[in-house]
Amino acid sequence: MLESPCGKEPAVLRVAVVGSGPSGVYTAQSLVEQQAVPDVRVHVLDRLPCPYGLVRYGVAPDHEKIKSLQNNLRTVLDHPDVSFLGNVHIGEGGLGAEELHELYHAVVYCVGAATDRHLGVPGETLWGSFSATDFVAWYSAHPDAATHRFPLDGPAAVVIGVGNVAVDVTRILARSVDELAPTDMPQGPLGALAGSAIEDVYMVGRRGPSQAKFTTKELRELGALTGAEVVVRPEELALDPAFADPSGLPAVNRRNVEVLRSWAAEPPRGAGRRIHLRFFLRPVAVLAGPDGERVAGVRFERTLPDGHGGVAGTGNYEEIAAGTVLRSVGYRGVPLPGLPFDAESGTVPHEEGRVVRDGAPSPGEYVAGWIKRGPTGVIGTNRPCAKQTAASVLADAGSLAARRVPGDPVEELRRLGQAPVEWPGWQGIEAAEAALGRSLGRPMVKIPDWAGLLAAASAGTSNGASTAVHAKSAVRSGTGTNVPGTGTSISGTGQEAAGAGG
Ligand code: NAP
Repeated sequence: MLESPCGKEPAVLRVAVVGSGPSGVYTAQSLVEQQAVPDVRVHVLDRLPCPYGLVRYGVAPDHEKIKSLQNNLRTVLDHPDVSFLGNVHIGEGGLGAEELHELYHAVVYCVGAATDRHLGVPGETLWGSFSATDFVAWYSAHPDAATHRFPLDGPAAVVIGVGNVAVDVTRILARSVDELAPTDMPQGPLGALAGSAIEDVYMVGRRGPSQAKFTTKELRELGALTGAEVVVRPEELALDPAFADPSGLPAVNRRNVEVLRSWAAEPPRGAGRRIHLRFFLRPVAVLAGPDGERVAGVRFERTLPDGHGGVAGTGNYEEIAAGTVLRSVGYRGVPLPGLPFDAESGTVPHEEGRVVRDGAPSPGEYVAGWIKRGPTGVIGTNRPCAKQTAASVLADAGSLAARRVPGDPVEELRRLGQAPVEWPGWQGIEAAEAALGRSLGRPMVKIPDWAGLLAAASAGTSNGASTAVHAKSAVRSGTGTNVPGTGTSISGTGQEAAGAGG
């Protein structure tokens, strides 16, 4: 067992995990489930007053099964040795890395990849051209997107990119309001999508069908929508040499091609909306309408396979008319002030999760999730990633715990100008969202704005703080039913769901 710096009592290793998405929560879980260093206290900090990161604000609202992963993440945040502290701002305009480092023995950054990649073509910033991540944030009720507006006046939308995010936004654009109403989508986006005049959604890849990044389950879903049908062009698919014989492809790509082949063989159903899956078209410009400001379409260059997995331009162009363009070409990590950053990969340099500064691991600083390995993989990919980082923290625990840190970091955070939303505050938000859903005749409906979230958190704090805090301290002191170190496990949260990672 570790000893405190003065050697009299067992030391507590205080760890801050920055980010409460899957990578942050799995890191917290790995830290408190270990046996070798019993006294680890983890504070999971988030800029938002709500936990769960991309599971709450990235997984599509109609993916209820993946969203139910929140129940598993909740079990971790409810663990007696883990505390959720929302509304704590780290980075630009908030607390600096150095200040945070003073409060905790170790800080693990699990901040994901916070922004979208750009196309780098003319017209990208015209009104009507948006990043898919902004659209996702809007229909997922992210409070930073509360004032976003998207033109849905039709008749067509173009989605650039053929990854799972592109599939998500395409599906949401093509779904009927009857399919969306039972989700937790906030009222504003639900009403806007109910009034959408978009009939044709073009999802466009620059390479061939065998190189698309979407996964087969997600692709298949496009063919199962009540009011929309998938349209593919057999002659375009056939430009891909693997289309005729996909047997040599990796399993996911082979299954994708098989699904596309089956759609190519189906006659049109005459559905009200159509999802056009297009390939071998590279975007070269987003086009303006007559006013020079509003999007009118996208110009693409036809490409062909170059024989090495890439494509080459042909000098032939095609324009697709559309009033809405969503660029879905991947996420990108952003630098956190005070932390090293590799701009090329959009990640923080690390060795087994230890942040590397000037060529050497920096004591007490760690990363996990997308900011560690880049924006790829499904939610389950974060588990081994978080485990590796947690193992590094625990291996370093002896030297880390020798440094004095404040006994009550929450008090210090307040002193430094933060106003943390603790677990009862989050429970207040959950209660308010359930009540909002009841009042609208829908299941739980998300609160989409900062003011509403903070008011609900404040009500929750006044109603439940004393009970919840009391319950956790009873558990910690051994008078509860869930005593740490007695083998009570919070594993079994291992739903290895697909979905946005980070
Ligand atoms: P992604 O999988 O990397 O796909 C990005 C797409 O954008 C690719 O088709 C890529 O084509 C294309 N692209 C990139 N640059 C381009 C350019 N300049 N012009 C045209 N196209 C371009 O990224 P994502 O869709 O954002 O997904 C991120 C991660 O989240 C993935 O791991 C994904 O599986 C996960 N996710 C999963 C789910 C789910 O499981 N339900 C849902 C959402 C997200 P190239 O291949 O040619 O580069």
